[in-house]
Amino acid sequence: MAAHPLFDIGGRTALVTGSSRGIGLALARGLAEAGCTVVLNGRDEDTLAEAAAGLPGGRVHTAAFDVTDGASVAAGIADVEERVGPLDILVNNAGMQLRAPLLEFTDTDWHRILDTNLTSAFLVGREAARRMTGRGHGKIVNICSLQSEVVRPGIAPYAATKGALKMLTKGMCADWGPHGVQVNGLGPGYIETELTRPLVEDGEFSAWVRRRTPAGRWGRTGDLVGGLLFLASPAADFVSGQVLYVDGGMTSVL
Ligand code: NDP
Repeated sequence: MAAHPLFDIGGRTALVTGSSRGIGLALARGLAEAGCTVVLNGRDEDTLAEAAAGLPGGRVHTAAFDVTDGASVAAGIADVEERVGPLDILVNNAGMQLRAPLLEFTDTDWHRILDTNLTSAFLVGREAARRMTGRGHGKIVNICSLQSEVVRPGIAPYAATKGALKMLTKGMCADWGPHGVQVNGLGPGYIETELTRPLVEDGEFSAWVRRRTPAGRWGRTGDLVGGLLFLASPAADFVSGQVLYVDGGMTSVL
């Protein structure tokens, strides 16, 4: 049986920031499998070329630029639109984690995590939305986190960036909604990637995640694809400013 047309995003062009590996790469794969032309982003062209080679179809492109640098972002988005075509979908996924007690957290690290997790979404989102609002349509999905809602000791700066990203999502929705652009968040729970490797390898913590998650396991990157395809599709044309948590239920229980 064919999928419902509301979920058809075939032929759209999508940029996923931070898609050289992990969640971003899985989301890019999902979009490619749904028939999108996909642009992979990260900081290293060789890594991106390797990642692109593993994706299906002939409609995968790469664009290496640093999402924390305004000039690089402006040049990167202009180059993508010229080379690949108008962007229909933007996924602001690039991010990082730094774990340390707040009293030991340095000024440099504070600015680094803020730039990577929050400023990046403003810079890339603004550049893409300048074009999308002009065309009267577009979908932007910001990758938030269960830590947009709750926090644990040692990750306050990370949670602060993700909490702020949730509000930036709502603000983008307010500003760009009238111009046909829907902006939503996707909030992963604990997902096994390079970012969480130290936690996965910590047996005690890893068992705690399984116990605390109603689904009883760590998330896999593929668990996030369905939520993204929904938010990027016409099925979500009247959904904006929301964060969809894909966390096995963790944010809902004590
Ligand atoms: P990874 O560390 O596996 O991947 C991070 C990606 O971001 C890489 O592709 C990296 O590319 C890219 N990146 C980092 N800095 C920059 C930069 N300045 N410019 C361009 N690209 C950059 O992380 P995950 O896949 O685990 O996480 C992806 C997103 O999901 C993040 O926003 C994270 O906060 C969020 N998230 C993750 C969770 C998890 O449990 N894993 C839970 C909740 C949210 P490269 O190094 O090649 O430049």
